[in-house]
Amino acid sequence: MQRTLIREVPSQVGKEVLLKGWVSVRRDHGKLVFLDVRDRSGSVQVVVLPNHLESCAAVHEVRNETAISLVGKVNERPANAKKEGELTGGVEIEALELAILAKGEEDLPIDVSSADLDVNLDTLLNNRTVSLRHPKIQAIFRLYSLLLAGYDQACRREEFVEIKTPKILSSATEGGANFFKIKYFDREAYLAQSPQFYKQAGATVFERVFEIGSVFRAEPHFTSRHVNEYVGLDGEMAFIDGVEDVMAMLERIMFSTFVSFGEDGAAELDRYAAHLPPQVAIPRIRLSEALRILKEEYGKEVENEDIDGEGERMISEYVSKKYGSDFVFLTHYPVALRPFYSMPSADGKYTETFDLLFRGVEIASGGQRIHEYRMLVDSIRRKGLDPEQFRDYLDVFRYGAPAHGGWGLGSERIIQKLLGLGSIKEALLYPRDVKRLSP
Ligand code: ATP
Ligand code: MG
Repeated sequence: MQRTLIREVPSQVGKEVLLKGWVSVRRDHGKLVFLDVRDRSGSVQVVVLPNHLESCAAVHEVRNETAISLVGKVNERPANAKKEGELTGGVEIEALELAILAKGEEDLPIDVSSADLDVNLDTLLNNRTVSLRHPKIQAIFRLYSLLLAGYDQACRREEFVEIKTPKILSSATEGGANFFKIKYFDREAYLAQSPQFYKQAGATVFERVFEIGSVFRAEPHFTSRHVNEYVGLDGEMAFIDGVEDVMAMLERIMFSTFVSFGEDGAAELDRYAAHLPPQVAIPRIRLSEALRILKEEYGKEVENEDIDGEGERMISEYVSKKYGSDFVFLTHYPVALRPFYSMPSADGKYTETFDLLFRGVEIASGGQRIHEYRMLVDSIRRKGLDPEQFRDYLDVFRYGAPAHGGWGLGSERIIQKLLGLGSIKEALLYPRDVKRLSP
């Protein structure tokens, strides 16, 4: 007999089916045993009647989360037993045969049978493979999978070529402080804290490239939006007229990515009462203007012409009220706040760069890059760095490179803000932070 997926069960009324899945909850009512069984496609109620107890003897050993297979008859349920909005609520499986596929060694460390998993972050992460069994937790990663696919498709539609760049580097470039040092045979090496140089090289060859890849940051953060290993969604494009082209492309790609959530992730979004951002034109505000708004509207003073986390929240709130947008581009950061490869504005004081904020948090940084060799060498020097250290990178420009720019998005922050998760760590299967290196 071939396996039937649970979502197909409603069309099989009166027939016998073979199901495989996990028991989410076991309930005993006198001589009846009820099991909520789930597989990757959904869940359905199974009843073991007293007259089938012999062929279903294994049910005595079934507990919550036991993996089982069963043959059963699909029966229609009385109308008053149907649960609102539940795909398979109209049917029930009368078990005829039941087998345990793998017996657990011990009781579960946490109860994952309740509708909302009510445990603290450490418990959730310490018992990750068990907490992931909970459908609400799974929903995060089903949406995450849609994010990766949506970003991939959106980039391809715009004729970006997917590249994968090395994550083991010979030197700690870009200043250096936040690199993890590793042993590489008889040498030292570093884990990449961004694909920046390689994706720029890619753009000078393929015009448009994107990468979905791991990023390592050796920063001792204790915040709700930082981890030490995350997945970056990068993009870089050549033959641009200016940074505006980069923002316009990122805006299109973001909106197009969110369409796939709407189409395929509706049920998962519902579990978090999450709504998609409205697709209204994303406002672009110069950082200096944003700082003026913060001062005038919120009485907030800033230091070093920079914006902090609180400022980002406030300006997002302001933009949401005024323009109805969940996103905002802050543009033209001062030279001092941006890396050496940032294209300076005509005034020489600011840069052709931006941050993209989503619901109060930075989700991307980007900008136009310097593509002229001489200018780049000067910029490296002005930051107090040695051009000799950037030999391989400078080769990209030594033979002429077109104007280009791009962005780096943090994938987990997008999911965190989309679902309103308290910590970014909930959006990583196995997060790494200062204290956590396992599971
Ligand atoms: P922040 O100022 O929030 O620390 P950043 O400006 O240092 O971030 P970038 O180098 O601009 O980060 O990286 C691009 C994007 O990658 C960020 O906008 C963010 O979405 C994501 N990102 C950066 N650092 C982290 C981190 N430690 N954990 C998770 N995501 C991160
Ligand atoms: Mg940034």
